Amino acid sequence: MDHFATCPLCGDVKAATESNHDRIIAVNEHSILLVGDHQFFSGYSMLVARTHVREMHDLPQAVQQAIFADLMRLGRAVAEVYQPLKINYASLGNVVEHLHWHVIPRYSDETDPKSHPWAEAADFQNHKTTPEAARRVAAALQKYL
Ligand SMILES: [Zn+2]
Repeated sequence: MDHFATCPLCGDVKAATESNHDRIIAVNEHSILLVGDHQFFSGYSMLVARTHVREMHDLPQAVQQAIFADLMRLGRAVAEVYQPLKINYASLGNVVEHLHWHVIPRYSDETDPKSHPWAEAADFQNHKTTPEAARRVAAALQKYL
């Protein structure tokens, strides 16, 4: 099935595999890693499955394991570079039904570090990831993948 025209994450995958994405961290066999579209949380990154699938459990087990390993490498890299208080791993897909994981570093100087990471979502738009920031974050994380 070709979802490239309608699914934004399929569009991200297509751009990343064509080296035409301005927030790319890495292209793996079964996933791509992207700098998040905002940096309200410094180091916020995403993993996107390379195939348009709705649920992790619908993938073959070997692919699930590969994606999880990619996710853990990304999480470790974020932890090494940003030294957060905690990392929130979130896979929801209620808005975009294409398997993806948010890797969200949390910090002690937040208004409420114990709250869920979307509590201050209204402020994310004030921290949009610029191309320069994306290159800086990606370069920092790539050293630890
Ligand atoms: Zn898709």
